Amino acid sequence: GQDGRVARIASAIRVIPDFPKPGIMFQDITTLLLDTKAFRDTIDLFVERYKDKDISVVAGIEARGFIFGPPIALAIGAKFVPMRKPNKLPGEVISEEYSLEYGTDTMEMHVGAVQAGERALVIDDLIATGGTLCAAIRLLERVGVHVVECACVIELAELKGRDRLGDKPLFVLVNAA
Ligand code: AMP
Repeated sequence: GQDGRVARIASAIRVIPDFPKPGIMFQDITTLLLDTKAFRDTIDLFVERYKDKDISVVAGIEARGFIFGPPIALAIGAKFVPMRKPNKLPGEVISEEYSLEYGTDTMEMHVGAVQAGERALVIDDLIATGGTLCAAIRLLERVGVHVVECACVIELAELKGRDRLGDKPLFVLVNAA
């Protein structure tokens, strides 16, 4: 059942304390990718949830949304659109600034990758404060795309990033304290 799959996924994620700096408990999904059953189950759980939701766009957030997004997109018959760090995309882009713990960052998407009225799923590996997912939602909504839901493998629930998404649904597989 689903619970058995989620338990294996949770145990395949490695936690590395004090990376990239003291106090951060880094949730390392590279070990999940080494467990072929857990990786497949991760993709399957998302595909089972989204296959009949009329989603035409899977928007993946750089960098680890680029690992989970494309197999989901292929399986549900949606296109994959990368949401990138600044100055990486070669075509015309629209940009959205968002705040980090210290300073700001920018997310970019190619103009013309999506059309007004399309239905999108936003995917990343992890939600912490929710700032990254919020920026992705804003970018897509600015061009008239309906964000159906956001999905992550891991939620750091204590940081209450979910609240920052307002009424936008968030689906996660694993809660990490
Ligand atoms: P946030 O915008 O605060 O929700 O941060 C989410 C983004 O930062 C995601 O792209 C994550 O990959 C990354 N991130 C934040 N905290 C962690 C963590 N403890 N372990 C791994 N990645 C993290």
